Amino acid sequence: MPESSSKLIVGNWKMNGLAGGLEEAGALAEALEAQPARARVALCPPATLIAPLARLLEGTAVEVGAQDCHPLAGGAFTGDLSAEMLHAAGARLVILGHSERRAGHQETDADVAAKVEAALRAGVEPIVCVGESLEQRKAGRALGVVRAQVRGSLPAALKGRAFSVAYEPIWAIGTGLTPTVEEIEAVHAEIRHALAAAFGEAFVPILYGGSVKPENAAAILHAAEVGGALVGGASLKCADFLPIVRAAG
Ligand code: PEP
Repeated sequence: MPESSSKLIVGNWKMNGLAGGLEEAGALAEALEAQPARARVALCPPATLIAPLARLLEGTAVEVGAQDCHPLAGGAFTGDLSAEMLHAAGARLVILGHSERRAGHQETDADVAAKVEAALRAGVEPIVCVGESLEQRKAGRALGVVRAQVRGSLPAALKGRAFSVAYEPIWAIGTGLTPTVEEIEAVHAEIRHALAAAFGEAFVPILYGGSVKPENAAAILHAAEVGGALVGGASLKCADFLPIVRAAG
């Protein structure tokens, strides 16, 4: 059983996976049953797989999450899913404000904050993503951009609630590029500072995301203020994701 201060390792399957993908999740759960991890582990499949995955993983060490939610509980919003619906399907966490949604769906910090409030209303734990573009980093604006996103995307309602923040530099997502450990530590320190100012000294894991692989996981996960990882491509196969989970121990 992970301790409350355990690192959190979350897999983001994005728009990948049909029912066949469930075998990989089953293999992960079996491996963690045979040799429990010290980390807390979750998989966020596409919405179509939340219910079957939640049924498959019930009673295992692997939690199930979602990748987005609508701010409202219900209504005339064709194609959208509320946090309440995701909870009913079995999601206990939800990734919000991922850069692919900020860019592809024009989500602002205020939109993300509204979705965070929706997740809290439904009893789903938010994982709030922030991160700078390459252009912003090159211009020396990474810390300022991330600080502003933390301030704008995290509503006051989070005080006293379980949540995490994922630092995902946009230029590192799916590219094989990663910041140096020192660069990660500098941003995480900035986020910790902003969190302390807004919410006091609460335990809030700050995850790193962006091209985390079995080869670089240990160095990243043991950097200062890294409370876990948000993993995209390398979360699709148990053979890649399991060593990342183990590297957190
Ligand atoms: C992500 O999209 O959240 C992510 C971290 O992707 P990848 O690990 O593939 O870079």
